[in-house]
Amino acid sequence: MYVGGLPGKVMNFRFIKEGEKVATFNEFNLSEGILKALSLMGFEEATPIQELAIPAALAGKDFIGQAHTGTGKTAAFGIPLVQRLQADSKEIQALVVTPTRELAVQVAEELNKIGQFMGIHTLPVYGGQDIGRQIKALAKKPQIIVGTPGRLLDHLRRRTIRLDVLQTVVLDEADEMLNMGFIEDIEAILQLTPPERQTLLFSATMPPPIQKLAQRFMKTPQLISIRAKEVTVPNTEQFHLVVEERQKFDVLCRLLDSQSPELAIVFGRTKRRVDELSEALSKRGYAAEGIHGDMTQARRDAAMRRFKEGVVDILVATDVAARGLDIGNVTHVYNFDIPQDPESYVHRIGRTGRAGKSGIAVTFVTPREIGHLRVIERGTKHKTMKMAIPTMKEALEGQQRQAVDKLIKTMETEDTTYYQSLAAELLSEYEPTLLLASALKLLTKEPDTTPVKLTEEAPLVAKRNFSSSRRSAYNQRRFGRSRRSKR
Ligand code: ADP
Ligand code: MG
Repeated sequence: MYVGGLPGKVMNFRFIKEGEKVATFNEFNLSEGILKALSLMGFEEATPIQELAIPAALAGKDFIGQAHTGTGKTAAFGIPLVQRLQADSKEIQALVVTPTRELAVQVAEELNKIGQFMGIHTLPVYGGQDIGRQIKALAKKPQIIVGTPGRLLDHLRRRTIRLDVLQTVVLDEADEMLNMGFIEDIEAILQLTPPERQTLLFSATMPPPIQKLAQRFMKTPQLISIRAKEVTVPNTEQFHLVVEERQKFDVLCRLLDSQSPELAIVFGRTKRRVDELSEALSKRGYAAEGIHGDMTQARRDAAMRRFKEGVVDILVATDVAARGLDIGNVTHVYNFDIPQDPESYVHRIGRTGRAGKSGIAVTFVTPREIGHLRVIERGTKHKTMKMAIPTMKEALEGQQRQAVDKLIKTMETEDTTYYQSLAAELLSEYEPTLLLASALKLLTKEPDTTPVKLTEEAPLVAKRNFSSSRRSAYNQRRFGRSRRSKR
C-alpha cells in the first residue's frame, strides 16, 4: 500500500509494507462511546484502509481512498465522522453520497451503529421512498444524511435538507456513480455545500472524470491507496464452465442441485435477465428472488430481507443492485453472464468468501466469450479452474445427500416417539431397503426439467483490453445504450 498525492499532481509515495503493523482502535484517540460500539460490532483491529484513513480524516484532511471491496471503507470514514461531529447540534453536519439505495441503507445502518452511544444519528434518503416520510424523519434532526444523488438534490432544492453548517462530504463508490451517470448531480450537490467543508472520496478506480472532480472540489487531496497483492478475494475458489448460451439455465439448475449452496447469488447482465431468471428458478422449485434497479424500493427491501433471513436462498441480481452490499454467509456466486470487466468480476465474487469463510464462484462462459474470460483473468492476475458441467447423476446425488442430511438431522434432534410404532409395523410388512428408498425419494427434490423461457444475451467478445475509463463508451457502442439505462 502507499500514501501519496493525486496521480499526476504529487508523485511522492510512501510505501508501507503489507502487514507491517496492526493498529488497534485505541491508537486513534477515539471517544469511549465509539470504542464501545466498535467492540460490540466485533471490530478488533483496524483494516489497512482504516489505519490510514482514520487519522487523515480526524485531522480534517481531504483524501481519496482506494481499496477493494469488503475492506471496511464505510467505517474508515464513519468512525472519524462520528468522532468529529457535535451531538448537541441539531444541524446536518455530514453528507454521504452513494450510488444505490441499498448501499445508502447499509451505510446508514453502519453509521448508526458506530454512533449509537454518541448521540449521532444518521438518516438514509433515496428515490423510491415516499418523500413525505423522509421529510418527517428529517424533522428528528439527524446529524448525518446518507443518500443517492437524485433524491438528495430533490431535498436540497426543496430546502428540506440544508447544508449551511456542513462539515464533511463523503462520496462513496465515486466511479460507480460516474458509470451510472450521476457526475453532474454530484457536482450540483457539491456546489450547494460550504466551500470550507472537508471532502472525502472513495473510488475503486480513478478514471479522468473522477480525477477532474477531485481537482475541482477537493483541497490538495492525499491519495490513500491499499493495493493488495491479490486483486481477487483469496478465500474464494474460482471456477469457470464453458457452456452454450441455450444450455446455461439447465446447467445452473444442475449446479444448484449438485452443490446445494446455503446462500447463493446469481448474477445476470440485464434487468430483463434478472426477472426471467428469478421467475424460471421459482418455476423449478427453487426459493429465488431477483433485485435490480427498476424494482420498487419496497420490493427490493423485502427481497433483501428474505435473503438475509434465509427464507430465500438464491438472490438473482444485476451488478449495480448488488454493488457494495454486505451480505454475510453467501457460500456461492454464480456468474450466469460473464461480467464486463475485472473490477466487476472482483465485486461480484467479493460477495462470497467474506470474513475468513471460504466461498465458491463459478463463471459461465459461452465458447465465444473465452477470450473475454482471459481478459478478466489477466486483470485479476488469477486463473480460474475449468470445471465440467455436472451430470444429471451428480445433480441427483447432491439432492439425495440433502435428503439424507435432513433425515439424519430429524432423527438426531426431533422427537419421533409417535411415529415409531407405525415404523415398526411397516418394517414388519415391507423390505426395509425398499421402504427407506421410497421415503428418501419423497424427501428428495429431484432435478426438475419444467420448461422455461429465457431471452438470449449477446456474448461479450473481447476485441482488446479496454480500460475502465473507456468502458462506458465501449458499452455505448456495443449495446447502443448506456449502463444506466440497462440496469
Ligand atoms: P467496503 O466498503 O470496503 O466494501 P464495508 O465497509 O462494507 O467494506 O465492510 C465490509 C464488512 O467488514 C462489513 O461487514 C463491516 O462491518 C466489516 N468491517 C469493517 N471494518 C472492520 C474491522 N475493522 N474489523 C472487522 N470487521 C470490519
Ligand atoms: Mg463500501
